[in-house]
Amino acid sequence: MAGEPQADCLFCKIVAGNIPATVVRETDTTVAFRDINPQAPTHVLVIPKVHYPDAASLAAAEPGIAADVLTEAGRVAVDEGLADHAYRLVFNTGARAGQVVFHAHAHVLGGRGFEWPPG
Ligand code: C5P
Repeated sequence: MAGEPQADCLFCKIVAGNIPATVVRETDTTVAFRDINPQAPTHVLVIPKVHYPDAASLAAAEPGIAADVLTEAGRVAVDEGLADHAYRLVFNTGARAGQVVFHAHAHVLGGRGFEWPPG
């Protein structure tokens, strides 16, 4: 069923506590944890607890939870001391855009400068 945990999904396993993660925030609908391969001094992932393969499908099915992901991304930025500085929110969508985990997630990246356009 849509949104149900998927047995082969890494981030569903993190939500279930079956794979360790350094959790920095948690709500009824979201978990935020440090990326294991950080690309910036701050690199936190915010995920919905429900399983959707990407941000667009999450937003289409569960707009309130998609909003929760964005709200939590903003709170991570505040907690990490980034809110008054530059930070970047990224939703890689599709393999050609660099998505490797097909459970919706926002990257919160900060603590350094960023180029535009992205690579
Ligand atoms: O957007 P994309 O799918 O490429 O991002 C997945 C992210 O999940 C990667 O940045 C990767 O380092 C991270 N990851 C993690 N913990 C895991 C597996 C992957 O933080 N156990």
